[in-house]
Amino acid sequence: MTHHKDLRSYLDALDALGDLAHITREVDGDMEPGAITRLACETDAPAPLMENIRGVPPGFRILGAPAARSSRKDMPYARVALSLGLEPGSTVPQIVDALLANRERPGIKPVRVDAATAPSRKHILRGDDANLDRFPIPFAHDSDGGRYANTWGMLIAKTPDGRWTNWSIARVMKVDGKRMAGLMVPSQHIGQIWGEWVKLGKPMPYALVQGVAPAIACAAGIPIPADVNEADYVGALWGEGIEVVPGLSVDLDVPAHAEVVIEGHVSIERDCPEGPYGEYSGYLGSESSMQPTFHVETISYRDDPIWPLVVAGRPADESHTIWAMGMAADAMALLRAAGLPVTTAWAPEESAVHWFVVVVPNHWRELLPDTTTEAFARKVGEVLFSASSLVFIPKIFLVDEDIDPTKIADVAWALARNCWSQQSSAAQP
Ligand code: MN
Repeated sequence: MTHHKDLRSYLDALDALGDLAHITREVDGDMEPGAITRLACETDAPAPLMENIRGVPPGFRILGAPAARSSRKDMPYARVALSLGLEPGSTVPQIVDALLANRERPGIKPVRVDAATAPSRKHILRGDDANLDRFPIPFAHDSDGGRYANTWGMLIAKTPDGRWTNWSIARVMKVDGKRMAGLMVPSQHIGQIWGEWVKLGKPMPYALVQGVAPAIACAAGIPIPADVNEADYVGALWGEGIEVVPGLSVDLDVPAHAEVVIEGHVSIERDCPEGPYGEYSGYLGSESSMQPTFHVETISYRDDPIWPLVVAGRPADESHTIWAMGMAADAMALLRAAGLPVTTAWAPEESAVHWFVVVVPNHWRELLPDTTTEAFARKVGEVLFSASSLVFIPKIFLVDEDIDPTKIADVAWALARNCWSQQSSAAQP
């Protein structure tokens, strides 16, 4: 199986599966892209590619639901699998195993290529021309605090001493054509790096890259070991380094095969209101807070650039599919390291990834002969409830191999059949 080095070859693969909807009628630039994307997620429809958007130059496009659940009932995780370079019909355990195997491989560093031929440097905007207003940035939800300029793009930053470069997805709101405001959470990698620049008293250089190769977006959206650079992790997955070019206005390398690259500096004060924004639990937020300002200095883009849009909300969207995949791989690695026998794990999308299901082999008692069921369950709980990647998981269910954790009907049946309170089990014959 070949990996997709850019977003466009991935879209060709989705097209071949019938999992891409070309929307050629004009869509409104404010609310329609968010509504169309949300509907696609809630009905498992093909990913919408909106090709005619009011208010922006002809050719500028929006891709909704880039890694949500597939419209192909026979291959529900086709978008995630293809993104990672796997067969589209891969099952959850197969995808999780591929992610686990990749953690064992040494990382492969990005390789610099000639900027003159890099697709992402085809058009270059500087000064007043470097303005976000010319790009299709819609409202994701009707009560968001603004248009979100980042829902599926790569935020690239590195520490002042250059020892650590982080690629992550974090929400960033458009303020106007020259400014954005981004959520800086101190516990997250991007927040830790920003903290180092604040200590130095220098604005943090950043690149915000839209429309990267799908594996890059997936890797940035899942928990991987903290000391691993996301770019090197993708290199290991591909068996070759990501092709990059030097920044135009900052000392950061950016992907050569991206749709849009925005560069500039982030203020060291929390000087701009950000939010609210609709969340993965399916609720619209009502809070805003003061966050640093991202100043826009240069922008480059491909011909007819494609802007990806993720609209988090009621399941299933990327905040469920991708997060569940990453949590499952992390949980499996931790449980196996603790010597606990596990078959697979999954956070059902329908629970908005609030339930976590761990499947154990039917012969687990032979593998752990002196362990009671309760002691086994406690050990699993101790490992997973202390994992930083599962910090938002309040409930874990341990089930036998006859349960498919990706089928919510299976999980409901297991809970109904096997979870008794003391009173109800006393009432059973
Ligand atoms: Mn990281």
